[in-house]
Amino acid sequence: MSATRQGMSSAEIDQIVARRVIDAIEAITIYETKIRMTHDLINQVIRQETKVEKNANNKRRAYTIGANEKKAYAGNLPYCNKCKLHHVGPCTVKCSNCKWVGHMTRDCKEYVAAMN
Ligand SMILES: [Zn+2]
Ligand SMILES: [Zn+2]
Repeated sequence: MSATRQGMSSAEIDQIVARRVIDAIEAITIYETKIRMTHDLINQVIRQETKVEKNANNKRRAYTIGANEKKAYAGNLPYCNKCKLHHVGPCTVKCSNCKWVGHMTRDCKEYVAAMN
């Protein structure tokens, strides 16, 4: 014969309640630990992915800068050796040194006295 609820002393009830609370707290602690571990893992993966992405972005940016330095290559136009640009039709680049069309100033073979 077990004691009925009414037959329990308040101390016994307190003990049972306390144990339940401890159990619940323990369960929550375990649950939180698991969640924290999962979060740590996810964060680690995200950090790694961010790093990889950042590297990729840096490379992409480097390519973009390189392309811009060569002056916007916008499409699939053939590469012109004279002006180092991609365009169709005759080369229209003009040398500001000798005023000739067809090569760039930096490729100029003409000797022009230093500009004063
Ligand atoms: Zn050209
Ligand atoms: Zn020239």
